[in-house]
Amino acid sequence: MNKDQSVQDMTDTMAKFTSYIGKRLPTDVKDKLAELRTFETNPLAKAVYTSMADNQEAADKLDRPSCQDTGVIQYFIKAGAKFPLLGELEEILRNATQGATRMGPLRHNAVETFDENNTGTNTGTNIPWLDWEIVPDDDGATIDVYMAGGGCTLPGKATVLMPGEGYEGVTDFVFDVITSRGVNACPPLLVGIGVSTSAETAARLSKRAILREVGSRNANENAALMEKLLEEGLNEVGIGPQGLTGANSVMGVNIESSARHPSTIGVAVSTGCWAHRRGKIRFNADLSYEIISHKGAVL
Ligand code: SF4
Repeated sequence: MNKDQSVQDMTDTMAKFTSYIGKRLPTDVKDKLAELRTFETNPLAKAVYTSMADNQEAADKLDRPSCQDTGVIQYFIKAGAKFPLLGELEEILRNATQGATRMGPLRHNAVETFDENNTGTNTGTNIPWLDWEIVPDDDGATIDVYMAGGGCTLPGKATVLMPGEGYEGVTDFVFDVITSRGVNACPPLLVGIGVSTSAETAARLSKRAILREVGSRNANENAALMEKLLEEGLNEVGIGPQGLTGANSVMGVNIESSARHPSTIGVAVSTGCWAHRRGKIRFNADLSYEIISHKGAVL
């Protein structure tokens, strides 16, 4: 296959995949919402979960986006240094976003900052947002697509704590963020926490945390314990589905961290809503692919 054809094929696949994830929730999120419904005794909370499931079923059948806000498109790329289309990926993902916008259709969400005009294509300066990791000695590429909706992005916050504030300071920060603005993000939420040196490294890690599967645990046992304790504590607040009170507040809490400067604790929170539209796809060097996030998905 010549390079132009390969670029076109990958663009088509990514356009279809981006459009697909706007209409169908990933398997882990779908399963978690069904599980959370079983814990509810409050009829209103049960009814909200039922209407979420009905909404998902209708979106699938009618082939329409499952929420009116299809977000700003963000791609988190883990590409092998030997992936044959590494140099073309940026152009591929930009064209795929435009293709998905027509195909979805996706709401036009890219407004040029300072010019205040909507580009009408979901592309613009640095949009789609690309986050890169290059993997040495690999010839494949794994791409996470995320639709950053307005409501679910709104609670996002990052700060740098004094070192003496410790893990208690991290806990206070997370509770403040979720109890003040979490309700705007259409709960139950997937809470992503980044702990690092500075505001921007913590923020990037907190976003990566919500790309991790619901129910997965950090490999470090202290971090995993903190995930569990925060999850239990936030659930005790009882925010419930859509903030109407209920047995739970969150689908889960995922923490990602880096080693950090001894004098600072950078901490950030990102939140995913109940309609947490993200997808993971892995391409091999010959552009054959596997969809990891959505069981049984066919594009
Ligand atoms: S928070 Fe999520 S479900 Fe709610 S309006 Fe925004 S994208 Fe849609």
